[in-house]
Amino acid sequence: MNLEETKELYEFLKGETPEGFKFKTGQPKLSEDEAFTIIYVLQEKFHLIPDFYEKCAECKEIYDSENDGHHFDGVGINLCDGCISPMVGHRYYHDMEKFEADVCDWWKKNRLSCQSPSSIRSEA
Ligand SMILES: [Zn+2]
Repeated sequence: MNLEETKELYEFLKGETPEGFKFKTGQPKLSEDEAFTIIYVLQEKFHLIPDFYEKCAECKEIYDSENDGHHFDGVGINLCDGCISPMVGHRYYHDMEKFEADVCDWWKKNRLSCQSPSSIRSEA
């Protein structure tokens, strides 16, 4: 499955009906974390989806980590480039350690101090 298909599956699992489909029995409406758990199993157990597709902890979108985003060991999260940039004031870093430290600090200050990250964006 490519990135677009993976994103479609993710949207489907969260409750979006794919074009041209109608389900008599209803369809799943999972949380972002639950939906990504299914994707994760399709990646790691069944190898149907490349394992470098990650879910951004901020916007909850799936992105290709080979071309986008970064993993932050310090706080154990993945973030896409679009979310990282404003966190560091759109600065460009040459020093990766400083970059990771700054983003981890931002995350701890802005996301870990209040509620759990999943409750911050509540479109559902
Ligand atoms: Zn993002």
